[in-house]
This record gives sequence, structure tokens and C-alpha cells, in this order.
Amino acid sequence: MEISKMFLKNDDVITDDNLACSGLDEPHERYFGAVSAPIIQTSLFVQKNYQAYCDDMQHEAERYIYSRGLNPTVQMVEDKLAKLERGETCRCFASGMGAISAVLMANLNSADHIILVNNVYGPAQALVRQMAEKFGVKYDIVLDGTLESIARKITPATRMIYTESPGTMTMNIVDLKAIAALARAHNITTVIDNTWATPLFQKPLTLGFDIVIHSCTKYLGGHSDLIAGAVITSHERMTAIRDFSHQLLGAVLSPFAAWLLLRGLRTLPVRMPRHQDNTLQVIEYLKTRPEVENIRHPSMATPEQQFIIRQQMYGFSGLFAFEIRGGNFETVKWFIDACRMFKVGCSWGGYESLIISPNRGYNEPALAADNIASGLIRLSIGQESPALLIADLDAAFAAIADMPKGEE
Ligand SMILES: *Cc1c(COP(=O)(O)O)cnc(C)c1O
Repeated sequence: MEISKMFLKNDDVITDDNLACSGLDEPHERYFGAVSAPIIQTSLFVQKNYQAYCDDMQHEAERYIYSRGLNPTVQMVEDKLAKLERGETCRCFASGMGAISAVLMANLNSADHIILVNNVYGPAQALVRQMAEKFGVKYDIVLDGTLESIARKITPATRMIYTESPGTMTMNIVDLKAIAALARAHNITTVIDNTWATPLFQKPLTLGFDIVIHSCTKYLGGHSDLIAGAVITSHERMTAIRDFSHQLLGAVLSPFAAWLLLRGLRTLPVRMPRHQDNTLQVIEYLKTRPEVENIRHPSMATPEQQFIIRQQMYGFSGLFAFEIRGGNFETVKWFIDACRMFKVGCSWGGYESLIISPNRGYNEPALAADNIASGLIRLSIGQESPALLIADLDAAFAAIADMPKGEE
């Protein structure tokens, strides 16, 4: 079967995920039966007397005392995300980077070694470099993501393997089950940033991973109106993350952002198949364009990668890249500026389709060093009609064909 047609067939997974996103388990009776959850916009919770306060302080992690610790609106989102990832527990953070830094800071000591596998989100790599400079953390990057390459980098000091699959920009897939097994044999903690796939399309904890991180800013929020992060893991692992990073670094989620996220999650099971369908249609169109090469999306994976995809993914989201053959900064700029539906902007995962390029003109030598083609364009496919999106791209190809000579 063609890989792009195989998805969203797993009825059990879909039903459970729909339940998690629904309001079924929300405590409506506690808030007058309101179907939309309240925003408990409070910094602290008053207690009925001093003894009650003292008792609560003994169980700080589970009681409503202070909103840096636990807040009912935030907790409601955390429960849903834990269910979606099939994890024991979740804590939310003020941003995806807040979640990433919390996991790294709680789990790595000076002189510990971390292996970054596959193309990892740039700021996460930058954080690891900072921790190397400031605290003497050691790191290696394994781009090809094969077991042999990873195994070669494991040392007695290796504490963590951190990955993304598909990898940022390249969309390279790594075998999550195999990596988790290799790490477990060496007592190494495995962490994955699962933002691209969302828990609907990939559930790394069920494949043996220890910790899942999300930037909820993208598909989970889904409306480009909030910044949030989440960590999902076991109770045991969360204790260290909660006590140290969540409480002491303090980048926690606000009740209002949590409420927006709650609202976004309701439609996640509706939005993701639409992102997928739209994206596959846009890719079918791009395949017909002679100007296009190297479409980087998992639906275009090699047979070897397709084999892994079938074992670990339930679907594809809508962030991907392609190259304009022989394109340079001018081509990319003309193409982007000819688009109307595709707005120019970073981030992704919202309603509106977005277009950017890593080529900013002044950085072409750096791109070459990273093996990124000068004509690479990144699209985030939104919820609009695919016909409108395709017509927009059609106009952009016409525009670069008409580029004035000398600009090329
Ligand atoms: C955006 C993003 C992040 C960071 O999330 P913020 O909410 O912006 O801090 C982390 N990982 C990936 C893959 C992202 O795309």
C-alpha cells in the first residue's frame, strides 16, 4: 500500500485520543456544570485554617497551594496530554524551550554526556552547547541516527539520548524502538521532542522512550495564539523534574495559556487529519513541478525508512521542505513574496499556512556547511482549502519563471 494512504486506520488509538481531547473526564460539577472549563486565574489558594495549610505543605506536589506548583486549569491540560501520550503524568511549562531546559537541567550533571540523535531543533542544540561551556556537560551529535553510529558514541558517562523523529528540516526518520532498547541496555535515559508528529501520530512512550517533550505552541495549541511546553513521563522521573526544574527554574504555564491549550486540544483530532490531507495534496502538486527537487516529508521516505515509519507512526503532519532546483536567495525571495495564502513567518502548526526559507541571503556559506540547499523552502500547511494553497504556489512558480534577468 502506498505509504500516504495507510494512516488513521487504528480505531482503538483514535477512540482513546478522542476521549482524551474531549471533556468527558473534566470535573464539570465543580464549576456549575459549565461545559467550557474555568480559567482559575489565581496566584494562591487560601486554606480553611492553619492546620490545613500545614497538611497541604506536606503534599505540595498534589495540592492547590500556589499556582507555580499546581493550578486546576493547568492540571486539566496536563491530564489530557498524559493520556494522549499514554504516560503516567505530565507537567506543563511556559514554552517548549522551558520544557526542554527543565528536562536537560534535571537530568544532567557536570561531566555527564548527552548524545543528540538526528537533526534536533536549533535552540535545543544551542542550550546543550551552553551547558557544555558553563557546566562541563559533554555532548556528541549523531546525524545519521543509525544504531551503529549511536553505539559508537556511548561512553560510561552517557546519561541521555535526545532525539527528534522526523528530524528538524531534513525529516530523517530514526528507529525509536531500537534506540530505546539500546539505551536501556546501557541505563541511558531516552528523550524525544515529539512536536512534529503530535501524540496523535506518534506515541514514543509506547515504543520504550522514557520522556516525551512537546512545544504545545505548534499543533497542540493549533491557533498560533499561545506559547507552551509539556513533559510527559513516569511519576518517578517526573519527581526530579518537578522538584528541581519545574519548581526552582519556575518556567510554568499560566492558567490563561492553559485554557487556550485546552480549547485547542478539543479539535486536535479534527485538525490533524486535515493538515495531513492538505499536505499530501500539496506534495502531489509539487511532484508535478519540474522546478522542484528533494521534497522533504516522511511521505516521501525511502523504502527503508518507510519500514520504520510503519512501526512507529500513525500519520503525518504538515511541516515540510522542498528545494527549487538551482535556486538561490533571489529565487527564494521572489517565490515567497509571490505567495498570498502562505504568510511569511516562523513557527508552525496553526490554522494559517506559512512559508519561509533558512536562506536569509547573508548566511549562504553557513547553509552550505550544514548541507542545506540555497533553494530550500519550508512550508507549514494549514487548514485552508488545498485548492487555494496549490493555486498560490502555482502563481509563485510563474513569478520565478518571470524573474527579471540579472536578479537570478
Ligand atoms: C518550536 C519548537 C520548540 C520550542 O518551542 P517554544 O514553545 O517555541 O519554546 C521545540 N521543538 C520544536 C521541534 C519546535 O518546533
